[in-house]
Amino acid sequence: MSDFAGPKVCAKCGVEKERDEFYADRRRENGLQAVCKECGSVYRAANAERIVAQRKEHYQANAERLREEKRRWSQDPCNKAKIRARNVANADKISAQRSQHYRENSDVIKARSAAWNNEHRDQVREKNRRWRQEHPEETVAYNSKRRALKWGNPGVCSGEQVADRVYTWGNRCWMCGGPADTIDHVKPFSKGGPNWPCNVRPACYHCNATKSSKWPYPTASFRDEPLCLPS
Ligand SMILES: [Zn+2]
Ligand SMILES: [Zn+2]
Repeated sequence: MSDFAGPKVCAKCGVEKERDEFYADRRRENGLQAVCKECGSVYRAANAERIVAQRKEHYQANAERLREEKRRWSQDPCNKAKIRARNVANADKISAQRSQHYRENSDVIKARSAAWNNEHRDQVREKNRRWRQEHPEETVAYNSKRRALKWGNPGVCSGEQVADRVYTWGNRCWMCGGPADTIDHVKPFSKGGPNWPCNVRPACYHCNATKSSKWPYPTASFRDEPLCLPS
């Protein structure tokens, strides 16, 4: 390694420049690239496509080795902290890149994920079942959102809001006052009912099934003559 630390002449433009106008290159004798930053960026801009293609080709030719190296590198605890810090610092950029990647490759991604789900059908079904069991309100919110979309009805109701509505009604069927085990949309989706929280009430299975998609519904008769007695 040379101890030369003064200005340096760019091999491309021939101009003598300060050392910080050259990128570092450990493989070179004086630790700097031969070409100045400015010339480098001009070169990279002019050859962007070719450079990307070369990198891609190099990656593909050495994919296994590079993947393994990257894996080993990322397993190192010091590097894990580095990765985390970098991910936090670039969160916005990463999420923008991800959505762009998804938009540009959605067909491939969807096909790949469908194939994976198909191969692991039992595993997927079991995972979904467990999730629904552990997140009953989110499940209701998700299903309601889908149904409202299908009917073209307005309204948004989160899992938290579903839970809030159930709590407001004391976890009782709004028609008979018995224990509730379903969610009713008072004005049915099929009759243009919205998916706003105000249209969401807990109901017992029996009342919900009897009410079905009737609208308007004579609920007064239910309250006089409960089908399910409060326990
Ligand atoms: Zn130069
Ligand atoms: Zn009921």
